[in-house]
Amino acid sequence: MQRMTPQNLRVPGPTPIPSDIVEAMTNPMINHRGPEFHALIDKATEQLKQVFMTKNDLLILTASGTGALEASLVNTLSPGDRVLSATAGSFGDRFTDMAEAYGADVKRLEFEWGGPIDPGAIRKVLQSEPKIKAVLVTHNETSTGVTHPMEEIAKVVKGEFDKLLLVDAVSSLGCIPLPVDAWGCDLVGTASQKGFMIPPGLAFISISERGWEAQQTAKMPRFYFDLAEARRFLKQGQTPFTPNLSALYGLSLALDKLLDEGLESVFGRHAGIGQLTRDGVRELGLELLVADESYASNTVTAVKMPESVDGKKFLRLMRTDHNVVLAGGQGKMSDDIFRIGHLGHVTENDINGVMAALKEVLPEVGFNP
Ligand SMILES: *Cc1c(COP(=O)(O)O)cnc(C)c1O
Repeated sequence: MQRMTPQNLRVPGPTPIPSDIVEAMTNPMINHRGPEFHALIDKATEQLKQVFMTKNDLLILTASGTGALEASLVNTLSPGDRVLSATAGSFGDRFTDMAEAYGADVKRLEFEWGGPIDPGAIRKVLQSEPKIKAVLVTHNETSTGVTHPMEEIAKVVKGEFDKLLLVDAVSSLGCIPLPVDAWGCDLVGTASQKGFMIPPGLAFISISERGWEAQQTAKMPRFYFDLAEARRFLKQGQTPFTPNLSALYGLSLALDKLLDEGLESVFGRHAGIGQLTRDGVRELGLELLVADESYASNTVTAVKMPESVDGKKFLRLMRTDHNVVLAGGQGKMSDDIFRIGHLGHVTENDINGVMAALKEVLPEVGFNP
């Protein structure tokens, strides 16, 4: 395959990879049942716990993020279990659909796309339905650029009702604060290609004591994503199945870099770049999808596609004439918005490049505010 020219890849995953991490991933293969691997996985696991801010068990799976989310469901639930799934976008919908696919009896609590999940509405459902066993929530809804009020949601779900809390943190963990233990999140899943500056192929999941208790009676079918097996193998410095070694080499260096920088600095950097992006699009006369900016995501910004603009042509011109790759909308919003990813390895320069390109392309597609 011919070498591709690097793009200003501004989709919310996969994200660009720093060159030293690319280099680390060219290390030779090792025996995944040997001592070198044992050291590698022990170190990465301990460092990931720091990024998750947890003392819970943490398991590295070879899968995309969806694998971790599937693991969170099948390891804690049985077919017929009543669960509440709060959704305000296409990833929330997917988590919900997955629970249904495995036979959970799902109460789907839907909120407007572009708005936050309301913890008060969750409280009402939990009050009226004491049978509910678990609550599913997406921390950062990548399809709409909204960060849901996870701390308040956790206070209701854990603090008031003590239900199992399963969290999709695929596009937030390592970018936006999610102190897993402080907020009491039971199972939290994320993926390598979003905030971790490495390619797709690894998923990370934390599981609380309460999660393990649920695991013992959970009857949903599972094999590849059996977390008890993953924990048993990890005790011997192994994984049940062949892991994505190259991505693990990259992960090891990425975690060194994140922890050397310090999580507070990493979160602050994302907050700054999120603000820069929102200010930039507004200056161009565009409108954010998120109505209340206090819920705006610092990893992805969703922008309303102006009425007059042919979205496909706009995205094409951004790519062909300026080497800037943006994301369209998803699901029912596919034609209504475009999205700018700004997570992981991203600089102000990258965002300034997006804005400069927008300034030229928008008039070419008929948008003159
Ligand atoms: C990207 C993403 C996913 C899906 O992850 P895959 O790695 O594609 O399986 C799930 N949830 C959210 C919030 C995401 O951003």
